[in-house]
Amino acid sequence: MSGYWIIPIVLGCLFILLLIFLLIMKKNRRVKTSPYEEALISLIDGDEEQALKNFQKTVLEDSDNVEAYIRLAELLRKRSDPSKALQIHRYLLARRGLAKTTINRILFQTARDYLVLKAYQKATDTLKRLLKSERQNEQYYKLLLLTYEKSSLWNDAIETFRKMAKLFNYQKERLFNFEVYAAYEAKKKGNKDWAVKVLKRVLKMKPDNIPALIYSGDIEYSNGNIEEATQLYKKIIELDTESAYIVFPRIMKAFFDKGEFQKMEETYKDVLERYPDDYKTTISLADYYLKMGRLNEAQELLKNGVESHPDSIEMCLLQLLTEMELAKNDSVAALRHIIDVYKKREIFRCKRCGSISKEFIIRCPECKEWETYKLEKGV
Ligand SMILES: [Zn+2]
Repeated sequence: MSGYWIIPIVLGCLFILLLIFLLIMKKNRRVKTSPYEEALISLIDGDEEQALKNFQKTVLEDSDNVEAYIRLAELLRKRSDPSKALQIHRYLLARRGLAKTTINRILFQTARDYLVLKAYQKATDTLKRLLKSERQNEQYYKLLLLTYEKSSLWNDAIETFRKMAKLFNYQKERLFNFEVYAAYEAKKKGNKDWAVKVLKRVLKMKPDNIPALIYSGDIEYSNGNIEEATQLYKKIIELDTESAYIVFPRIMKAFFDKGEFQKMEETYKDVLERYPDDYKTTISLADYYLKMGRLNEAQELLKNGVESHPDSIEMCLLQLLTEMELAKNDSVAALRHIIDVYKKREIFRCKRCGSISKEFIIRCPECKEWETYKLEKGV
């Protein structure tokens, strides 16, 4: 009888031992994450340096981890070592027994390496090979398009874009925009004749494409065909008064070249007849009057302008300038300077990524988005 007290003590000890064992197990499990997991966590945390080290450690411990190799190479390419990335991808491709989807993934990464290395022909060949096995892969097409763009092969680029538009149901407008963009880029590189041909084709299909009209006008102007350029610019104002601010300076320059500066007045008045409150036109005509010393006309115009646009600093400044000119105030030059500074701050800003440009551009060079540039008034 006397020995029974020992049983609860033994059971109690066993229970405590079990608890300690479970605690140790739990702790160990928490500590023991693999280098691969660590690498992925670092990636999520944005610590690329640490991720790189852990992916390297992973492939050293487990050379079968293809995924770790791919991620390691991607990091290396991103950190400006595309040759090393390419080396890894080639090493992987030499392996036997890889699934076809894995091979395609590695090939796609190889094409990206080639692109960064400016080996455009090799990138093109790789992507064409991929497209043979996966005809509907938009990612492949996008990279092929980028490759053609980078290598300035604009005919191929347009052809590719056309295929994409058909396959992935892009709107017609997107294709026109791409062609206009291609023409603009080709012209920048000196391929003016080709650009004219493309722009004409676009305008034949879509006569109201504003960027096509702008660039066609610019090319006519640079060829010395000032009359044709002016006609194209005027057409833009007729189509879309919002875009008038882009073409006013161009038309003014054209008139100035022909010694017909005063014709600018007619252009402004034409617009105001149709859109009496148009902001940019009112400002431009008032500025014109001021330059010509026609102060009373400027005063009258700005009085109405300020009534319609009471929040516009530029309008108020011009009104003040007019009043000061009329009163022959000594500070006119100082105010003129302020207005000039204000005007210089006018910029086009991409409404998607915020990057800025002094001139209107159809496609943002930063985020590659289309028609996102809007005029921003000086601050
Ligand atoms: Zn942008």
